[in-house]
Amino acid sequence: MTDHQRRQLADYGRRLLADRLTTGTGGNLSIALRSEDMIAITPSGISYDEIKPEDISLLDFSGRHLEGCPPSSEWHLHLALYRSRPEINAVVHTHSRFATTFALLHEPLPACHYLIGVARAKEIRVAPYATFGTKKLARKTVAALGNHDRCILMANHGLLAVGEELMEAYNTALYIEEVAELYYRARCLGTPVLLSEAEMDEALIRFRSYGQKATMMAS
Ligand code: 13P
Ligand code: ZN
Repeated sequence: MTDHQRRQLADYGRRLLADRLTTGTGGNLSIALRSEDMIAITPSGISYDEIKPEDISLLDFSGRHLEGCPPSSEWHLHLALYRSRPEINAVVHTHSRFATTFALLHEPLPACHYLIGVARAKEIRVAPYATFGTKKLARKTVAALGNHDRCILMANHGLLAVGEELMEAYNTALYIEEVAELYYRARCLGTPVLLSEAEMDEALIRFRSYGQKATMMAS
């Protein structure tokens, strides 16, 4: 675990507040350091503008606390995700307002905008409710997310995004919150027109090579 990684988690915590993805101590962030058999997770109940790099909590993969402040109450959830999804190395959990509004309604976010595809899915489903910080919540959320999707709503609670690295998981949380806000606004004015399965399939294909991933540009 490097100083850079501790700082990165503390910095992204502050971004949660700046980007209005959470309030106070809501939500949590972690990264997996698989070669070191540990995860680094934000501490429980400390406001994001107060978290210092040395407060970041380290746990081994069996959940033993190794270093730092007591871990986020959602450590069961983060560990369960890393155990079930070997390709992911970052988890971002928020209580962002618009996504959570749909989580309160137990309403999935449908294919109202092509950006739903950042979650590698055609809609953002809702995982069933369980009490925060419990193994039951971890079990239900991991099962609902499945083996492929990168984002899910947590009923009566918030949003969860996973990724190969922290920037990716964070951006997924940010984009899905934006889509939730746009969908909410559109629903206030009328009936949003949804993209078809085929349109979402095409968007998902384009996401595979979006950005700096392609090494050669077609002329
Ligand atoms: P922590 O402060 O323990 O991370 O809890 C916040 C939260 O979002 C619980 O679900
Ligand atoms: Zn939460």
